[in-house]
Amino acid sequence: MSRCRDKMTKINNNSSSIDIKYVDSEITDIIKQEKERQCKGLELIAAQNFTSKAVAQAMGSCLMNDGDKTHRSDNMDKIEKICQKRALELFKLDPEEWGVNVHSLSGSIANLVAYTAIAGPHGKIMGLDLFDGGHYSHGFHGSIDDTMATSIKLHYSGDLFINTSRDLDYRRFRDICDDVGAYLLGDMAHVCGLVAAGLAPSPFDFCDIVTTTTYKSLRGPRAGLIFFRKAVAVSLKEAMSPDFIFYQKQILANAKALCTEIQTRGYSIATGGTDNHMVIIELDTRKVNANQAATVLEDVGLYVNKKLRPSDKDKTKPSGLRIGSPALTSRSFKEHHFTTVADFIDRAIKIAEQVVEVCGRKEGKFKEELFQNPKIQANVNDLRTEIENFAMQFPMPGIKGW
Ligand SMILES: *Cc1c(COP(=O)(O)O)cnc(C)c1O
Repeated sequence: MSRCRDKMTKINNNSSSIDIKYVDSEITDIIKQEKERQCKGLELIAAQNFTSKAVAQAMGSCLMNDGDKTHRSDNMDKIEKICQKRALELFKLDPEEWGVNVHSLSGSIANLVAYTAIAGPHGKIMGLDLFDGGHYSHGFHGSIDDTMATSIKLHYSGDLFINTSRDLDYRRFRDICDDVGAYLLGDMAHVCGLVAAGLAPSPFDFCDIVTTTTYKSLRGPRAGLIFFRKAVAVSLKEAMSPDFIFYQKQILANAKALCTEIQTRGYSIATGGTDNHMVIIELDTRKVNANQAATVLEDVGLYVNKKLRPSDKDKTKPSGLRIGSPALTSRSFKEHHFTTVADFIDRAIKIAEQVVEVCGRKEGKFKEELFQNPKIQANVNDLRTEIENFAMQFPMPGIKGW
């Protein structure tokens, strides 16, 4: 090992042994900027999270070098087996009943693999349209005709959780599938961590296939969980610890605290509450749409999703703001911190409303007014500084400085 290292230092004109900051200052700078952004802002996008140092180390290790599936080393086989074993254990699945493919590099690919495996040529897949809460990888459909309703391979979307923030009745989906002779696929990408911790209903009880991503509430690397790849094993081990259950419980408590505080401040919440890690603020009765609100939120360092809601007539002007608690819970946020976050969100939305009051409803004028009106900029700067100071008190998981 040490001879190997000595040799490496001797080859000093070989760029593959030089630190990134000397090889590529441009990318190094961007990494630093991104780290700063992540530390100073408040990540409220429900699908985002911060991985641990251990997961980051596995991702940046020599395992990266094994790209060829036909000539891979025994160590890779070992990792794959560990990965599969941990995945089944985590979701309390009987290896006799459930198999697991760990090769997928993302959730969308996992879905595509599942579709092509069960729906042959001209097979039908039923999923939710993007606007109704489906994911891009769920395809889209027009009107459902009789043929579709009876011969479909029914595919329910995990994103239903997203738009309703509510638990799903898997048994009803199962019953419909049994009626029409369809397979049931559960895409639990968003709630995966909650399911792993036993805090959300498990799709495994009713589904034929379950797909997921590993980097959302599960807090692993960017990959598919049921279709795993190597570094996933580390996050699966982390997910089996009692700490992980505490983490998932805190995610729920934080989402509830945020929801209550937002409601107290007079906002309406889709479905009137939340069962999971997400809260959707409805802006239809406010002076701003989600584009305008999110522009201000982002400008002050609050990162959220804009969401079209079924009642939105103009598909370019969503009325929903989706807030998620997993990422900030990874930064040790507790309920009272989320109460403060709710205050920040409320104040940012009010700034957006203030902009509309000055410039009217014309969307084109909004950014100009926001960024050029000195009085509004003063409010924005004050809020941004306050959020930065608040955010910087909290730890950031991962590798320091990277
Ligand atoms: C995020 C997500 C995916 C896709 O994940 P990628 O890793 O980006 O391909 C699929 N389905 C749902 C429900 C998701 O939320």
